[in-house]
Amino acid sequence: MRKLLILFLLLSSFISFSQDHSHVIGRKLQFPDIPGYKTLKCDFHQHTVFSDGSVWPDIRVQEALRDGLDAISLTEHLEYQPHKDDIPHPDRNRSYNIAVEEAKNHDLIIVKGSEITRKMPPGHNNAIFLSDPNKLLVDDSIQVFREAKKQGAFIFWNHPNWTPQRKDGMATLTDVHRLLIREKLLDGIEVANDQTFSIEALQIALDNNLTIMGTSDIHKLIDWDFKVPEGGHRPITLVFAKERTAESIKDALINRRTVAVYKNLLIGRNEFLVPLIESSLKITSAKYIGKYNVLSVEIENLSSTEITLQNQTGYTLHNNNDMITLKAGEKTIIEVKTIERKPEVSLKFLVLSAVNAPNKHPSITLNSKVEETKQ
Ligand SMILES: [Zn+2]
Ligand SMILES: [Zn+2]
Repeated sequence: MRKLLILFLLLSSFISFSQDHSHVIGRKLQFPDIPGYKTLKCDFHQHTVFSDGSVWPDIRVQEALRDGLDAISLTEHLEYQPHKDDIPHPDRNRSYNIAVEEAKNHDLIIVKGSEITRKMPPGHNNAIFLSDPNKLLVDDSIQVFREAKKQGAFIFWNHPNWTPQRKDGMATLTDVHRLLIREKLLDGIEVANDQTFSIEALQIALDNNLTIMGTSDIHKLIDWDFKVPEGGHRPITLVFAKERTAESIKDALINRRTVAVYKNLLIGRNEFLVPLIESSLKITSAKYIGKYNVLSVEIENLSSTEITLQNQTGYTLHNNNDMITLKAGEKTIIEVKTIERKPEVSLKFLVLSAVNAPNKHPSITLNSKVEETKQ
């Protein structure tokens, strides 16, 4: 019996050693830095009991830490306070202050923000990097933007596709929004909010030079709403900042250096989308199979998102048609029929799981030297 146990232990340790140790992706969201910038994971649209959310602000901080985020903002509705009979709070800085206290001994940046909650137009808009939200309690729907800007805020249009304000779900620019953009009172727009994605919002961002945003707009629990135990995650905005500071994040947002992440979709401008995907995919091995002219290429996906590619290498594949799915954190082998043996390869793919405009996908190139093997 004892001998059997020893044999079992030996066998099981052998099995675990022989496994392929891929880059392990856990709950914490992972996206690599890109040349020249740090890639920061941010969620700038969240609610607590201080507006219509169901949790105390400390829970939002704990959720963000579990998700490995770099920065968050608790953006309570200024004009909608359904819990105020139970939780009166004359000071609209309260939610932020509690979050800052909770985050004190952690590495999480808390940005002060509020949701300006108006009927359409202009609908709902988040002002972040505020100094005092109490001063935003003004009636006039344009004046409130001016006050936020006076405080140095970055302002983005929330869920422009929200059906209670847009029956057909189509994000549509109005004259009020045109005025806000013209007067530099509106800087960004959500293309992903909670469980919705808006390709029309992406077009509005491109046409009007607005920053592309993705947010959770969480009211209850991140784990429940985004099925985190089953491998889901909240929508986030990846911010490409020079440094990991609030100031640097604001600079990146103002200068439109973002990619929104919604489920397994990456949404952004090519300038950031391409380096992000190229940094996320690493060729870990490229070698010919024995004496044959079929190249085995192992690609590791270092990001938390599944990436789907379409073959544009100019060669056909030996183990696939033209679609390749690279699971988050895993290594995938593709076999490329290069006809002749090459000392190095430059492989081009269309990224079907990313968009840079409606119906448009970015192209990426992965370069690698080929390991020498005997023919
Ligand atoms: Zn809203
Ligand atoms: Zn909201």
